[in-house]
Amino acid sequence: MTDNILEVKELKKYFSTPKGTLHAVDGVSFSVGRGKTLGLVGESGCGKSTTGRAILRLLEPTSGEIFFNGENILKYEKKQMRKLRKEMQIIFQDPFSSLDPRMSVGKIIAEPIIINKLIQDKDVLENRVCELMEIVGLAPRLINSYPHELDGGRRQRIGIARALALEPQFIVCDEPVSALDVSIQAQILNLLKTLQRDMKLTYLFITHNLSVVNYFSDDIAVMYLGTIIEKAPAEVLFDNPIHPYTKALISAIPVPELRNRRERVVLRGEITSPIDLPDNCRFSPRCNYARDLCRECQPKLIEYEPGHFVACHDADIHSHGSD
Ligand code: ADP
Repeated sequence: MTDNILEVKELKKYFSTPKGTLHAVDGVSFSVGRGKTLGLVGESGCGKSTTGRAILRLLEPTSGEIFFNGENILKYEKKQMRKLRKEMQIIFQDPFSSLDPRMSVGKIIAEPIIINKLIQDKDVLENRVCELMEIVGLAPRLINSYPHELDGGRRQRIGIARALALEPQFIVCDEPVSALDVSIQAQILNLLKTLQRDMKLTYLFITHNLSVVNYFSDDIAVMYLGTIIEKAPAEVLFDNPIHPYTKALISAIPVPELRNRRERVVLRGEITSPIDLPDNCRFSPRCNYARDLCRECQPKLIEYEPGHFVACHDADIHSHGSD
C-alpha cells in the first residue's frame, strides 16, 4: 500500500466577487506519497496557489476533504490546526512581502520557534538559528543582516530556513524559484532536493514552469482553470502527454535535447474567466480538436493507463503515436 502523507479529495475554493462566483479551485483530487514531490503546474491564475493555501488552511476551502497522515484536517478546530501547522509549512516566491523589513535574518528565522515556544533559552535559540542557516547554506555571520541587503538566492534561503525551523513533514513550495536568476534557480532547487533527502520531506511544488517540475517532481498534476486535466508520474507525462493542453505546454519548453520533442503547439486565445463557468471542458475554447461534446460536457479525470489520469473526451485519439 502506498504511504500517502496527503490526500486531497474534491477540493473546492470559490470566491464571491462583484462579477459573480469565481471558481479558483473547482474539485481537485490528488495524493502525495511520503518523501515524494508532486509538481502542480499550469498557467498563472489556474488555481495553483489557492490549492496550496487551502491545503494549509491559510484559506478556508469551500468544500472537499484534506487528509494529512490519514486525518481529515478540515474537521480540525483552531487549536488542533495550530499544532498541525508545525508539520505543514510553505515557501513563497517572495517570502518577505509579509514580513517586517526591520527584522534581521536571525529574527526572521527565530520567529516561528519563539511563537511556538519551542526554545526559551537565548543562547540555545541562537545556536539553533545558526544551525538552520548552515543547513540552508547561509553563512552564520549574516545573522544580523537584513533581507534587503542580500541577493534573491540568499533571501530565498532565509525563507527555507524559516520553513524548516519547526521541522515540518510537508512543505508547499509556491513558485520558490520563479523570481530568481536561472543560475541561482538551480542552486535553490538542488538545496531543496538535498533537504528533502536528508529530512525526508514531502513537497507540493507549485510552478508555472514545466521544465522546473520535470527536474524536481516524482508526479506531475497539470491544472487548467481550477481543475486537474492530467496527472501522471513525471517521466510518463513527458513521454506520453495526452491532453492537448499538456502537449502544448511541453512543446513550448525551450530545451532542444528534450526526448520525444514534438512540434510546437501554439495555444490560441486567452484563458477563460473563472467566473460562473459553464459545464464544458474548460480548455475547449482554446483546443484545436474541440467538438460539440467538449463544449457541452466537462470530462471527468479518469485513469487512462495505470497511474496516468486524463480529463479529455478524446484521450484515445491524443494518446501515444496518434499525432
Ligand atoms: P495561480 O497560483 O495558478 O496563479 P491563483 O490560485 O493565485 O492562481 O488564482 C486562481 C484564481 O483565483 C485567479 O483567477 C485569481 O484571480 C483568483 N483569486 C485568488 N485569490 C483571490 C481572492 N482572495 N479573491 C478573489 N479572487 C481570487
